[in-house]
Amino acid sequence: MRPEILNPLFAEAEVVKGVGPGLSKALKRLGLTRVIDLLYHLPTGAIERVRARAIGHELVGRIVIVEVTPFETRAAQGRAPFRVFASDADGNTLTLVYFNNPGWAKKSLPLGGKRLVSGKLEAYGQELQIIHPEVAAPGKDADLPLREPVYGLTEGVTNRRMRELAAAALERAPELPEWIEPSLAAREGWRAWRPALAEAHAEPQSSQSRRRLAYDEVFANQLALMLLRQSARRKRGVPLVGDGRLTGKHALPYTLTGAQRRVIEEIRGDMAQPVPMLRLLQGDVGSGKTLVALMAMLSAVEAGAQAALLAPTEILARQHHATLLAQLDSIGVRVAILTGREKGRARDSVYMGLGDGSIDILVGTHAIFQEKVGYKNLGLAVIDEQHRFGVSQRLLLSAKAERPPHLLVMTATPIPRTLTLTQYGEMDVSRIDEMPPGRTPVETRVISDERLAEVIDGLGRHLAGGGQAYWVCPLVEESDKIDSAAAEQRAEMLRLRFGERIGLVHGRMKGPDKDSVMAAFASGELAVLVATTVVEVGVDVPNATLMVVEGAERFGLAQLHQLRGRVGRGAGVSTCLLVRGQNLSETARARLALMRETNDGFRIAEEDLRLRGPGEILGTKQSGEAGFRVASAEEVAELAPIAQSDAQLLLDRDGGLAGTRGQAARICLYLFERDQAVGLIRSG
Ligand code: ADP
Ligand code: MG
Repeated sequence: MRPEILNPLFAEAEVVKGVGPGLSKALKRLGLTRVIDLLYHLPTGAIERVRARAIGHELVGRIVIVEVTPFETRAAQGRAPFRVFASDADGNTLTLVYFNNPGWAKKSLPLGGKRLVSGKLEAYGQELQIIHPEVAAPGKDADLPLREPVYGLTEGVTNRRMRELAAAALERAPELPEWIEPSLAAREGWRAWRPALAEAHAEPQSSQSRRRLAYDEVFANQLALMLLRQSARRKRGVPLVGDGRLTGKHALPYTLTGAQRRVIEEIRGDMAQPVPMLRLLQGDVGSGKTLVALMAMLSAVEAGAQAALLAPTEILARQHHATLLAQLDSIGVRVAILTGREKGRARDSVYMGLGDGSIDILVGTHAIFQEKVGYKNLGLAVIDEQHRFGVSQRLLLSAKAERPPHLLVMTATPIPRTLTLTQYGEMDVSRIDEMPPGRTPVETRVISDERLAEVIDGLGRHLAGGGQAYWVCPLVEESDKIDSAAAEQRAEMLRLRFGERIGLVHGRMKGPDKDSVMAAFASGELAVLVATTVVEVGVDVPNATLMVVEGAERFGLAQLHQLRGRVGRGAGVSTCLLVRGQNLSETARARLALMRETNDGFRIAEEDLRLRGPGEILGTKQSGEAGFRVASAEEVAELAPIAQSDAQLLLDRDGGLAGTRGQAARICLYLFERDQAVGLIRSG
């Protein structure tokens, strides 16, 4: 249960003074529904005002506050706006300009009455003017503070109102006990939680307080992951030791790379233990992770257990299933598939086979870990292309079971080490850092979209030579519908030029339709596959040695790298053409240049993080998945290692959640809604 001290913070935003139904609706648009949301809606910067006795040209460009007396108004005429002329203490004339609402202007600036006005001072010819000034009664300087924090706003919520709401929310915020290790807090010069929060609102420039709040969030995240690990480690797993009868019989078409051999040994070592394995396998696209998974699953089957392989998409599940069937049928291993598409009797028979143990290996999509699916003895769960499978889902897998299966998570998303820590901090990491022999690196070129005609000519030559190609359409919006329409158009245009061997897959197509297009492309029946990013992961068509990516600057680098991994799978030289828009920023150019320069996914990931620079946010996909609201990507990267050792100290030295500091840490977990971890500890 949530610590009582936090109840006021989790109350609805309506409890704050001045928040009625109308305002609450506007706040909802900003995602602010509870008091705590208001508290963590931190200002993005501040404006500085200058209090001047009188105006002058030297103040142009500054935001001034000055006391004036309006003496004349002039109605809007033609393109000239409504104006109020006023004089300051020295008799200079200041023009106050209104492009709308002259009635309000007249009322708030009565002729002959003193008023404080504020706004950016501009020169208009010889005249000095302020457009749409803020107005306060004389002496009410407090209404126009010299420094004012600036908030993210929406229609119906002014900055002043947001400031008031933050203040009101702060009043409801209790002092909280400290969860940060004292020597760390001292070293960083951090204040306690409440004063830090107050300062982050009042003085947005005070980077220390902001940093502390970001740290809290990263700490909650790391602690939650470590608690997970602890609880998983406390459970008993089933030690699985294969006898080599299947892996020995299984004739490999090639020799394993050194890296594959090493990680297979690491995995087998884990599986032989009585505690469940929690291992992340990182390996660039094409590094041969599938084979590693296969060897691990065969070991499990040899030891008398079942194994399950979760793929992120239907297409991939079917591809894995076909590969496994082809390789395993002859050695008597029984493989089945279960996705959202298996219905009725087919589904029932899979359920049955899993329950009575007549299925050894199950491949599928999320359906394979649903409640209804009862395994006889699931010994190993493998999750492929993990980036679509979050922490909480991982949790469910290992937390629910009495004796959880060994867990192997495989990802090709090349993420920097620090991000690995924040997203998979509870796992041990294996890396495949060597490619199978005989790969030629993909040749990458960046081309302006002004030269699209040349790109299409090049595609023509490629097809005439018997090659196949991917054509990836840009991500226009975060909307399937619009992206799919763009892809449809492109496919239509290519068909006009090259005839009917142009296939199309996009996110709005039904599963079976997608599969049949993919199958036709894999068999060579289709020459070009036009696609939105649904083809991002996994599919393997060695004869496709050309990829065109339109609107390349709109993709994340990790995503581009994944896409590019679709080509370069055969023996010949492959080419990737990154078609870019015009007027790119320096950063966008540098990012694309990096793609041209290297094929090393991990280098790309590290540099991408660096190139983003402060202020540039992660794509929604990445930041959303990471689940941080206060800490920026840079802060997460920088603070995660510190938080990790801090959390470790708490667990190893300070008695975990039971100690005094642990009680405080528990509050921190709830504050950032990482409390699932707390529940685990109790039940585990
Ligand atoms: P990923 O790590 O992206 O999942 P895959 O497992 O799909 O990579 O492997 C990519 C390709 O490399 C496949 O065609 C696979 O058959 C091949 N492959 C895997 N291991 C080796 C190896 N040791 N030697 C040669 N080819 C290999
Ligand atoms: Mg793969």
